[in-house]
Order: sequence, then C-alpha cells, then structure tokens
Amino acid sequence: MAKRDYYEVLGVSKDADDKQIKSAFRKLAKKYHPDLNKDKDAPEKFKEVQEAYEVLSDEKKRKTYDQFGHAAFDQNGNTGFGGSGGYGGFSGDFSSFGFDDIDLGDILSGMFGEGFGFRNRSSKSQRAYKGEDSLYQMNISFMEAVHGCKKDITLDVYETCDKCDGKGGFNEKNCPNCHGSGTVTSQQNTLFGSFVSKTTCPECNGSGKVFSEKCSDCRGKGKVRVRKTLSVNIPAGVDTGHQIRLKEKGEAGLNGGPNGDVYVEFKVEEHPIFKRRENDIYMELPINIVEATLGCKKELSIMDEDIVLTIPEGTQNLDKHRIKGKGVPYINSSKVGDLYIIIKVVTPTKLDRKQKELFKELSKTNLDDNDILKKFKKIFK
Ligand SMILES: [Zn+2]
Ligand SMILES: [Zn+2]
Repeated sequence: MAKRDYYEVLGVSKDADDKQIKSAFRKLAKKYHPDLNKDKDAPEKFKEVQEAYEVLSDEKKRKTYDQFGHAAFDQNGNTGFGGSGGYGGFSGDFSSFGFDDIDLGDILSGMFGEGFGFRNRSSKSQRAYKGEDSLYQMNISFMEAVHGCKKDITLDVYETCDKCDGKGGFNEKNCPNCHGSGTVTSQQNTLFGSFVSKTTCPECNGSGKVFSEKCSDCRGKGKVRVRKTLSVNIPAGVDTGHQIRLKEKGEAGLNGGPNGDVYVEFKVEEHPIFKRRENDIYMELPINIVEATLGCKKELSIMDEDIVLTIPEGTQNLDKHRIKGKGVPYINSSKVGDLYIIIKVVTPTKLDRKQKELFKELSKTNLDDNDILKKFKKIFK
C-alpha cells in the first residue's frame, strides 16, 4: 500500500511552521485516539498521524523527508517506519513504547496534560518493545558524496542473548516478592489518614515471574554487547545533514520486539576547488589578462570528465559559465545539477623587462575605450 504524504496526513501545507504542525497533530490525535474513537479504522489512522508528526515535528527528519520522500527512510525497500508492525521508536521520545499494545495514554499524557483516560499498564514488562535507535555520524569526501559509494560502519550494539534467547535466565517461577501478581501494595500513614498505593513489583518489574537461574552470558539482561559491521549504500547526491535509515539494524528489542534502527548521518568534507550549493557545483577558474582580453580555449578535467571551455574575447573578472548537467545528481532521480565556472582574471605580478616594455607600449594606446571604464569617467580627475 502506498504511503500517504505526511503533509497530507496532517492536512497542512509544505511550508507549515512547527506551531501549525503541532496544532494539526493535536486535533487529529484526539480525533483518532482509540480510547475515544471506537471506529475500526481509528487505530490505523492514529498511527498514520503519529508517524507523520514524528517526522514533520523534527527539523532534521523533516528536511530529510522533504528531500528523499518516504523511500529514504528505509534502504531495504520495506514499507518504511511503522508499516510492517513496528511502531514508535522513530525518535528517542517514543522508542520505549511497544509495538503490539501501544500505551497511547503515555504518548498523549505529555501533550494533553492529566485526565485523558490512560490505560492500565500492569502487564508492562511482558509487552514487546522496540530496541533503541542509534545515530552514526559518517564523514565522506566531496567526490564520494557526488558519485555515491559503499562504506562499512562498525557499531557496538546490544543484541538478543543467544544462550537464554533474550529471556535473561532459566526455569521461570512465580515472583516471591509479589507472589506472581506483579504489583505490591504499600501503606502510607499521614495526617490525613492512611493511603494504600499499588505499585509495580521491583523484583519482577510487574511480570510476576522471576528466573531460578540467571543467565551468565548476559547477567540477566537478555542482551549482550556485540560489535557489528554494517554495509551502507550511499546514494549519489547526499549532502551534510542527510540521514539514511538502516531499518532494524540497531539495538535489540525486548520481549520479541523488533530491533531499533540505525541512522547514518553524513558530513561531507570540503573540496579545495569545488564548492557545492544544493545540487550545483561552483569553481573558480584563473586566467591571465591576455587570455581574458583576446579569448582562449581551456581544456579542463572536471569531475572525472574532460571539458573544453571557450572563453570569449573581452572576458571580465567574475564572468560566469554554466555547464548543464555536470553538477551533483539529485537522489532517487535522473536530474543532475549544474556546474558553474567563475572566471578569475589574474593580474601578472612578475614581469620581465620585455613584458614590461610591451605593457608600456600598450598603455600608450587607448585602452579606456571600454563601457565599464566610461561609466566611471566622471570621477576620474
Ligand atoms: Zn514480583
Ligand atoms: Zn542471556
């Protein structure tokens, strides 16, 4: 199923500001919250709204989305975040929420304040949780960004422990602290009377079960730290700040939840000659005053291609030549930016006696018959 455009989902324009996005999200989240809307499409709609907001409310993700669209968030060609049942976990804020039974009350509590009708979450530790997302910063050269490349990254991530299958131990038994209920009650005596409060059992974290034998490999955590090498396909045209998502290649999930995602963010190194502006490339080309005056042909090798540039007679400093389609490719498109060559006329600084003589001869001729110079005639004394 094709994904709907995130702006369309929230019903805002492409240039909507943060306030408009937040306000649209609030309205729609209230409308489709499954606790309030019993329509059978409501959970799906809510999820869609949530997902759109997660991206558009984050300046970086929004920029990436604007540039790459849905496809960019997922290199494996899957349906992108959330589409295959993985929910939440897109950003740090939401990463701890399970994907099976989402505690929407928790997500919303931060936004709508108290009294929104939260769900009971006594079975917390049994729920599947998505693993944490990780961010990897990668430096690439100017040319690697222009042409695209493949690179390996090494990450230390938590993976599900093989020995105990992620459970953390063996021979499950009822928790002796809460007798299997998952909650403990405590009584507090105050001036106003005594209060009984129920809290999650700290021994079993609410599951009601503990292991007779702790796993020695992961020391009960259910996951172990491993070093992992991932291969990243970098498309031609990436720029500083762009991110690529490696879906479910990160930290292990909990209770069978999916792995977190790995985001690779690029930093493109500067090039001594080429400067990049979006998908166009700019460069300066120095020529001497004779070449500028009489015109010339320059054979250049630029971006792995041989180019012959014709410089016309009477070229001025900063004159610009545009060479179409020799810039940076647009990602996921056949479009390519342009190359701009800015002429820099260089005045000679080391003349020999003969050259000096020639310039002196030249100065006796009328070189001031020039449109640019004429404009300034009034201020010349
Ligand atoms: Zn317990
Ligand atoms: Zn283990």
